[in-house]
Amino acid sequence: MPIRILSDEIASRIAAGEVIERPASVVKELVENSLDAGSTRVDVNIVVGGAQSITVVDNGQGIPSDQLSLAFERFATSKIDESSDLIAIPTLGFRGEALPSIASVARVEAVSREKDSSTGARFLVDFGKAGDVEPAGAPQGTRIEVAGLFSNIPARLKFLGSAGRELSRIQSMLGSLALVYPHVAFSLNADGRERLRTIGSGKLVDAVSGVYGAKVAEQMLAIEPDESAAFTIDGLVSSPSLNRSNRTYMTISVNGRWIQSRRLSYAIEQAYHGFLPERRFPIAVARIRTPLDDVDANVHPAKAEVRFLREDLVYSVVQRAIRGVLSASAPVHGLGVGRATGSMGLLRTPGMRHAPSSRGEYGKSQDHSSQAGSGFSQWPDPSVLVEQSQLHDQQSTTVAPVIPTNTPKDTLPVLRVIGQAHETYILTEGPDGIYMIDQHAAHERVVFEQVRQRFEQSVSESQPLLEPASVDLAPGAMATVQEHLEELNRVGWGVEEFGSNSLIVRSVPASLATRASGDGAGQVFVRVLDELGEGGTGDTWRDRMLATIACHSSIRAGQILSAEECKDLVRQLEKTDRPNTCPHGRPTIVQININDLEREFKRR
Ligand code: ADP
Ligand code: MG
Repeated sequence: MPIRILSDEIASRIAAGEVIERPASVVKELVENSLDAGSTRVDVNIVVGGAQSITVVDNGQGIPSDQLSLAFERFATSKIDESSDLIAIPTLGFRGEALPSIASVARVEAVSREKDSSTGARFLVDFGKAGDVEPAGAPQGTRIEVAGLFSNIPARLKFLGSAGRELSRIQSMLGSLALVYPHVAFSLNADGRERLRTIGSGKLVDAVSGVYGAKVAEQMLAIEPDESAAFTIDGLVSSPSLNRSNRTYMTISVNGRWIQSRRLSYAIEQAYHGFLPERRFPIAVARIRTPLDDVDANVHPAKAEVRFLREDLVYSVVQRAIRGVLSASAPVHGLGVGRATGSMGLLRTPGMRHAPSSRGEYGKSQDHSSQAGSGFSQWPDPSVLVEQSQLHDQQSTTVAPVIPTNTPKDTLPVLRVIGQAHETYILTEGPDGIYMIDQHAAHERVVFEQVRQRFEQSVSESQPLLEPASVDLAPGAMATVQEHLEELNRVGWGVEEFGSNSLIVRSVPASLATRASGDGAGQVFVRVLDELGEGGTGDTWRDRMLATIACHSSIRAGQILSAEECKDLVRQLEKTDRPNTCPHGRPTIVQININDLEREFKRR
């Protein structure tokens, strides 16, 4: 379409707002124009965080010389016309606002040569004052240079961050676009240094490699597109051993448009529930496809958000798809893997030095119950163990163990117990190295799966307390108890109201009985209520409740185990569905790879 100025009528229906807030918004608008022009290369150059200059060069279809000045008029666009319903918009831009807005707060030079045209043209707008269009030699595509941004508006300038801060905004935004457009080769240079480069191969994994590095790309898992769903989603998500301390590594696109959606980010986070420790976040690129008329892009001035007509459905499709990949392939956590340093050096690995403090965490902060019993007394009786291990043996003979399977069940390698260290870790040897198992986390996993299975089959056992515990409830907690009474009873709690805001715990889930007696049981009950009070979807609160019970039913750090007890625990862990993480998402087992050992000892 030629560039034309939209009528007042349609212009007034477009979500209005200040588009250009900071250098990153300039880069975003220019790069989106390049993408709309069908470019396969987009090179961005930044000087002093964008305050001095921003240059975007593309190889797209270019702007016809006779329309170059028109492109800088307000509401001039080639992307929609009067007939547009403003709902099903396939391009990134559509309001004809970006170029005039940028040109009003900077000195902008545009050079462009249209595809199939022999000459190009140059056009200069100096803080809103337009020059003449002149012929100019240029490669096919468009080059836009923005200099002295906001230097006519000191107030705006004052609100910008440091050059480094603005650059990092640009880099993270451009990184997201590069991930959403893997078939486009992006580069970002700042003050003479290359910050980002993707090759534009069309493969998402190559884009991830260009944006986050090859190490990260190697550890990403593919989301298998589910063609049967009303919406399709594909992309890559980090395996749980690779995670970050903030949410900025989640990129979401809808129909090729990069969006920021707190709800969808939350859906991704929730999919990792139980796979990642608290306050750790995944790296993810999720690409959602929906019928065009299922989304409304015209709700946000910077076009950063979209509205879904069937939001709950999108949410659950995203969550289910990612959860599926994770449960299909959570690998054993390698020592040092997933840390920023990437160092595999044994003695230098922070994880090893921190071991004593994490022991304190498991052993103390979560232990509000009194310790009673040897810890193994409530394990299944030996006859049950024999049956299960026979079953296990049968499975391993019929299924060739060396073939990597993609079944939802992770399996641990066969491990030989060496001993117990620091009264907290079970040391074992396996085919590819040494494996250290956190006895508390491992037992938590074992108990969690047992408790969950009994809960699901409604066969949980309840054990009466010799001394019933009275519990004072937080305001509102009684309502939570009443609301969830059926589930609480089903898992084995027997409670009785006692006044308006306290109650008596008469019986507890059997797995807790030896560990939490009297007041201890009351405290576990309060923690369970906290989990229920947090809300969330049915599955996640149920798992959190069961995880709390498992945590307080499990062997503690600091407890001496006999060789036999260590072996039993390892065998039981091997039989769980997801042996590599505890129900809260911390690793149960950490591996030192044999190759790393050999390297450390200079054997090779
Ligand atoms: P919008 O993108 O909303 O249409 P802009 O102000 O960003 O508005 O751009 C105005 C017009 O200029 C676009 O519709 C397009 O025709 C043209 N244009 C801008 N940048 C480019 C580019 N890099 N390549 C080709 N055409 C461009
Ligand atoms: Mg635009």
